[in-house]
Parts: sequence; C-alpha cells; structure tokens
Amino acid sequence: MSLFKPLETSSEPKNNPTDKSSSERVKCVIIGSGPAGYTAAIYAARANLKPLLFKGIQPGGQLTTTTEVENYPGYPEGITGPKMMEDLEQQAARFGTDIRWGIATSVDFSKLPYTVIVDDKTVVEADTVIIATGATARYLGLESEEKYKGSGVSACATCDGFFYRGKDVAVVGGGDTACEEALYLAGMCRKVYLIVRKSFLRASRIMQQRVMDAPNIEVLFERNTKELRGDQVVEEALLIKRMGLPDESEEVIKIDGFFLAIGHTPNSDIFKPYLETDETGYILTVPGTPRTNIPGVFACGDVQDKVYRQAVTAAGSGCQAAIEAERYLSQAK
Ligand code: NDP
Repeated sequence: MSLFKPLETSSEPKNNPTDKSSSERVKCVIIGSGPAGYTAAIYAARANLKPLLFKGIQPGGQLTTTTEVENYPGYPEGITGPKMMEDLEQQAARFGTDIRWGIATSVDFSKLPYTVIVDDKTVVEADTVIIATGATARYLGLESEEKYKGSGVSACATCDGFFYRGKDVAVVGGGDTACEEALYLAGMCRKVYLIVRKSFLRASRIMQQRVMDAPNIEVLFERNTKELRGDQVVEEALLIKRMGLPDESEEVIKIDGFFLAIGHTPNSDIFKPYLETDETGYILTVPGTPRTNIPGVFACGDVQDKVYRQAVTAAGSGCQAAIEAERYLSQAK
C-alpha cells in the first residue's frame, strides 16, 4: 500500500484548490505540515524564499492525533495537538508561506529544477525541496484500538505517559522502542505489562536487561491482543496466550492505558528512487544536518529521525532545513 495514498480530506476548503496551474516554479517547496514542515516554512518565508507548502497525507502531522501537549517549551499550561498545529500554520502563513492541500505523489530529483508531482497531476518545479513527511506509528489494526485512540490508546509514551501516573498500563512490542517506552512508563506508573508476541524480546541485550530488572514491569511473552474493553476509556485488554497452539488460552489484564510500540513507518516511499535511506526507510542525512545525498534536497522531522521523534526536535530540524535551503540558494547564485 502506498503511504502517500490520499486521505479523505472532507474539510478541504473549496476556495483553495491544489492545482492552481499545471506547472509552476518556486524557490522552495516543503512537503508535509507537522512541526518540522511548518517550522521550515516560517524560517524559509522569513528568508524570503516564498515557500510553497503542501500539507500532505495527514495535515498537521501526528500531533493532530494527540490530545494535550505538555512538553513543548513555551506552553506552561499545555496545549492540544490540533491547536498547536493550527497556530504553527497561522505563523507560517503570516510570513507569506503559500499553504495548500495536496499530497506529493512522485518526485524527480535527477535534474534541476527538481520536480514534485502533487495529487498525480500538479507539477511543481523547485530549486530546493524540504521533505517533512513524517512517520506513521503502526497500530495492531483492532477495531477497539481505533475506538479508544486518545482515551487510553497511544503510540507515544513520552507524549502521553504523564496522564497515567500511578496507574496500570500495557506496552505492546518487543523491540528497543517498546522496552524504552516500558521503562519510561515504569518510572511513573504503578505497573507496566509488556505484551510480546514471541517468546523472546527482539530488543538489544542492555534494554532487555533493564526491563527484566525493573520491579514493576511484567513481561507477558507469547501474547497477542485480541480486544480492548471499557466504558468510554480503556479498562482492560483481552489477550490470547500462545495463539494458534493446542494450549491456546485467553486472559484479561486490567489496564488504564495501552501503548503501541510496534514500530513506525517513515513516509519516504516516493523519495527512495533518489534518496539514500536506511534499511527501515528512514532518509539518511549528513549527521547533525538535514542534508540528503542530493544537494538542495533536505529532510527534517520524523522521516529522518527514528531516535527522538519529538515535536520540538522535529521543529528544530525544520529550522535547520530552511537555513540550509537559504544558504544553498545563496551559494548557487
Ligand atoms: P522493531 O521493528 O525493532 O520492533 C518492533 C517490535 O514490535 C517487534 O518486537 C515486533 O515483534 C513487534 N510487532 C510488530 N508488529 C506487531 C504486531 N502486529 N503485534 C505484536 N507485536 C508486533 O521497532 P522499534 O521501533 O522497536 O525499533 C526500530 C529501530 O530503531 C530498531 O533498529 C531499534 O534498534 C532502533 N531503536 C533504537 C533505540 C536506541 O538505540 N535507543 C530506541 C528505539 C529504537 P517481533 O519481534 O515478533 O517481530
């Protein structure tokens, strides 16, 4: 399945069509509208690059799926994810960013100017491209998981763990992320279940050891989650033990929060013919910079960051991308 398949955009304003013309040339095109994309837009617009930003597959990015954001500096009372993204959009627009609905469906980085095709029809030529397409957290695909998103189900312990202080939670996954999230939650929750589908953890030795040493983490090996239940919010999870084996059985754990840590998928598919990525699809950048292997093409935010994945780090790398784009254009003159 293409990660860039258009989402339903029922709220698309009628007076802002994507295909203003069949082809146009800009100095800087930004793909994506999370904290990285909008921060890049603010800096690029203020540097007079007249950026054109396409909102992409999930306008506002992953933060639009969270409730309260309490760890972004500057908001002592916290702010909701959607409101924060609205503010960032307004700030980018204020300095002249041309913000449009649209999903980049293919690119051509083989020659200058670079080409970005939007919604399979609109052709944009750009001297620089800033990729801020983010990553998508993987979910199990359960109906009940959808139902409780934002009311017990989360894919980010660092973002939402605080709301579960003193409570019992579960983390799904057996990799480094799951262990890291379980350990983070163990520092504030009463009990953390780590639900692992195999009989072993895939995480690095050291992370495995830390999990095993944590007194309030219980690892439930060979368990698959069948269903989440609760009135309004998550109250319990129905697990299948040793699924598919003769001794398969069901068990219920009482929890207040259910955290997914089964990996993220970076939204990098359309760039792969041109850009170097790691084995999991994250765009490779020169360490400490947003530079990709193609001059004038920059990547920022979660599409190139599998370690930190925070709004504030994404915003920081968006700033770097715009500064780099400005410098690249000045040198190219
Ligand atoms: P991984 O792909 O390493 O692990 C994903 C885990 O989720 C696996 O245990 C997998 O199970 C499990 N899983 C996948 N799908 C399902 C499913 N449908 N149901 C139940 N379980 C499922 O992803 P991570 O995000 O943990 O890590 C990604 C990369 O980032 C890794 O290379 C990791 O080392 C790195 N990383 C490094 C960190 C660090 O160095 N501090 C921190 C975080 C990540 P199974 O094992 O059965 O396939």
